[in-house]
Amino acid sequence: MKVLVINAGSSSLKYQLFNMANNDVLAKGRVERIGMDSAILVHEPKDKEEIKEVSEILEHTTAIRKVLDKLVDKQQGVLVSIDEIDAVGHRVVHGGEAFSGSVIVDDSVKKEITRLIDLAPLHNPAALLGLSAVQTNMPNVPNVFTFDTAFHQTMPKSAYMYAIPTIFYTKHKVRRYGAHGTSHLYVGERTAEFLGRPIEELKIISCHIGNGASVTAIDGGKSVDTSMGMTPLEGLMMGTRSGDIDPAVVTYAMGKEDLTVSEANSMLNKHSGLLAISKISSDMREVTEAMEAGDQNAQLAFDMYIYRLRKYIGAYAAAMDGVDAIVFTAGVGENSVVVREAVCTKLNFLGVEFDSERNKTGRGFDKRISKDTSKVEVLVIPTNEEWMIARDTFELVSKK
Ligand code: AMP
Repeated sequence: MKVLVINAGSSSLKYQLFNMANNDVLAKGRVERIGMDSAILVHEPKDKEEIKEVSEILEHTTAIRKVLDKLVDKQQGVLVSIDEIDAVGHRVVHGGEAFSGSVIVDDSVKKEITRLIDLAPLHNPAALLGLSAVQTNMPNVPNVFTFDTAFHQTMPKSAYMYAIPTIFYTKHKVRRYGAHGTSHLYVGERTAEFLGRPIEELKIISCHIGNGASVTAIDGGKSVDTSMGMTPLEGLMMGTRSGDIDPAVVTYAMGKEDLTVSEANSMLNKHSGLLAISKISSDMREVTEAMEAGDQNAQLAFDMYIYRLRKYIGAYAAAMDGVDAIVFTAGVGENSVVVREAVCTKLNFLGVEFDSERNKTGRGFDKRISKDTSKVEVLVIPTNEEWMIARDTFELVSKK
C-alpha cells in the first residue's frame, strides 16, 4: 500500500509518499507561498534529482495537482499512475475532545473539524483546504485525519482543567489540549523500543523542542500532562512565543500600550520568546552563536530557555512520581549539543549522569546521551510525525 501524507498550512503544504510494504519514503516535498504568483514547489524523489519550480499557485487544489503531477512525472516521478496511491493521511492541529485517535474522514468528521475552527482558527481551516484539494484531485481515495491533540486526551481532569469559573469549560471548551501529540507518542514508543522495555512500565519526559516547543509526561504510554495549553502559547519559552506568563500581564500591557486583542495575540505569539529577549533571532542556532560571541541579550535568552525547560522536567518528574527516561526531539532537541548539555548537567538531583562525549557524537539517529550507570536514561530520538500519520492511515484503511 502507498500512503500520501499531507501537512497543509494556510499558505503552504508539505508532503511525503510512503511505501508501507517496506516503510520507504518514495518522495517528499513542499509547496510554499500558495496564493501567490511566485509559489515554490520543491520535490525530492528518492534516488533522483530534486526539482524546484516557481509558478503561480493560487489555491491548495492546484498545489495538490502539481504535487501529483510531480509524483507521476516521467523523469522525476516515483509512480506510474496516481491510482497507485491507496490512501491519504492529513495532519490536523486540533481535534478538541472529540478525537482521541486518528479517524477515516466522513461527513460527520468534517463537520466536527469545522466546528473546532473556533479553537484553532489559524490551523484547522488549512487542514480542511488540504482535504478538499485531495478530494477534488482524487475523489475515490480514502482520507484519514491524525490530530496533534489526540494523544493528550488521556490527561486526567486535574491536569487539563484551568482554575477559572467552570462555565468557560462547559460553555466554551476552555481547557488544556496540548499539541505535538503525534511526535510525543512516536518518541514514547521509540524510547520503549530503544530501551527494550515495555512502555507500560516506563515514565518518560518527552521534550519536543523546535520552533514551537512542548514537554509531555508519558506515564505507562499515556500522556498525563503536557506544557502546551488550550493553544500552543502556554508552557516553554519558544522561538517567538512567550510560553508561561502571569495572565495579568496581558491585560496590563494591553491597557498601557493600547493594544487590541489581535495585537496582544501577535505580541505573545510572534514577537516574544527567544526573538524578544535575544533581540537577534528566533532561531536557536543564531542565538547560540551570538551568545558564544559574548552577546549579553543572547546569553539571557539562552539562560531563560534552559531554566524553564529544566523547571518543566522537574515538575513532570514530580507529576509522575519519578522518571525513567528524558528524551530530546525536534529541531533544537535533535541538533543542539549545547542546549542538551546545559539542561542535563543540572539534573543531578533526579539521578541523571550526563555523558558529554556521547552528546557530541553524530546526529540523525536514536542515541543515548547519559552514562551507562545513570539512574535516568537520557536519549535523543529524531521525531517522525509523518511516519506516524502514514502508519495510522495504513492501519485504519486496511481494516475498512
Ligand atoms: P523544528 O520546528 O522542529 O523544525 O525546529 C526548527 C528549529 O530548530 C530552528 O528554528 C532552530 O532554532 C533549531 N535548530 C535546528 N538546528 C539547530 C542546531 N544545530 N542548533 C540549534 N538549534 C537548531
